[in-house]
Amino acid sequence: MPRAAVVGAGPAGLALAWFLKGTKYDVKVYEALDQPGRKPCAWGVMEGVEKMLPISKERIVSEIRGFKIYLNNKLIHDIRTNRTLGYIIDKPSMLRDVAEKVDVSYSSKVVVRDGKYFVNDKPIDADEVIFASGHYSLPKDFTIPAIQYLTNAKVDMEVVEFYFYSDLLGYAWVFPEQGGAKIGIGGYAPVEALKEKLAPMVNDKPLRLLHGARVSDGGVIDDRLNDSIGEAAGCVYAMTGEGIRPSILSAKIRADSMLEGKDFPSQFKKSNLYWTLQVHADIVKRVKRGDASLSGFSRVLTKADPELVLKVALGNFGRLDLIKLFGRMIF
Ligand SMILES: Cc1cc2nc3c(=O)[nH]c(=O)nc-3n(C[C@H](O)[C@H](O)[C@H](O)COP(=O)(O)OP(=O)(O)OC[C@H]3O[C@@H](n4cnc5c(N)ncnc54)[C@H](O)[C@@H]3O)c2cc1C
Repeated sequence: MPRAAVVGAGPAGLALAWFLKGTKYDVKVYEALDQPGRKPCAWGVMEGVEKMLPISKERIVSEIRGFKIYLNNKLIHDIRTNRTLGYIIDKPSMLRDVAEKVDVSYSSKVVVRDGKYFVNDKPIDADEVIFASGHYSLPKDFTIPAIQYLTNAKVDMEVVEFYFYSDLLGYAWVFPEQGGAKIGIGGYAPVEALKEKLAPMVNDKPLRLLHGARVSDGGVIDDRLNDSIGEAAGCVYAMTGEGIRPSILSAKIRADSMLEGKDFPSQFKKSNLYWTLQVHADIVKRVKRGDASLSGFSRVLTKADPELVLKVALGNFGRLDLIKLFGRMIF
């Protein structure tokens, strides 16, 4: 039986172990910490994930049916639907549920020495080692800082809020939470400046500051596809910071490739996931280079059909949608 070692018990690593469970592969997940789901996160996932992983009803904090999009703190789109667009999930508990169904070794930090892999000084005995170690292994210039507060703000449990700015390349969010909301921000600015930007939204509501973390925004790192999945390979939508669903989807493509004896990098590059992740990253890169301006994006955001904005923000778009949204602006 081929043995696969997976580094990291986040959404990507646990999903990979889950997809390979009961197949010809013997999979062991190594997690540096003593439990899964310790990483700061706002717990928002788009619909579809519940069909891929065993997510019980108790783990769903709320069903998302609407989005509010703000530009410079002014509401520009208020999108309400009667369908479930996504969920706020209790991510640590959900990951623990999955972890109980696969083989995970905690307090097991993997280190690489001279091209060999070790856990607590013992070599890993596996035919294949796959890194699902998240942003921790990414260079700083592939990530931006993100911070969030847990607040007691009274918000609609079915609505998530996204904030964009004409003077900050980044995004802020208000995600409902039991008894309050998580209010956070990530972007190309020092943490102090991000806190300042968030201050009017948080007002007098913070209960405590959750630890911040960095989040990938450079798109998929092709060179890493040989041995990595999830955020360790850059699978995060750069314009919104959504990384849970793309990480799980990358694990699915990896599992299918392993089972079908196909080359993962080439399979992944054929996927719509890869293309949409790279479009997000490309837009961010163009703004960074000065090829497109934030004020131009602000105009696009304000004038566009809200459903179209949502499709592109959620990575659920095709070429025609991009042309409709941006016109000749960047493509
Ligand atoms: C503040 C903040 C809020 C966010 N909110 C959202 C959100 O609401 N929705 C969303 O979709 N995304 C969100 N994200 C992004 C999302 O959290 C990540 O993209 C996603 O968790 C990536 O999953 P992953 O499994 O690839 O990596 P991770 O979740 O980072 O998991 C990696 C795991 O690997 C372990 N590890 C690392 N190195 C080693 C090692 N050497 N040996 C063993 N174990 C190791 C880590 O301890 C960790 O448990 C947010 C990010 C931040 C910073």
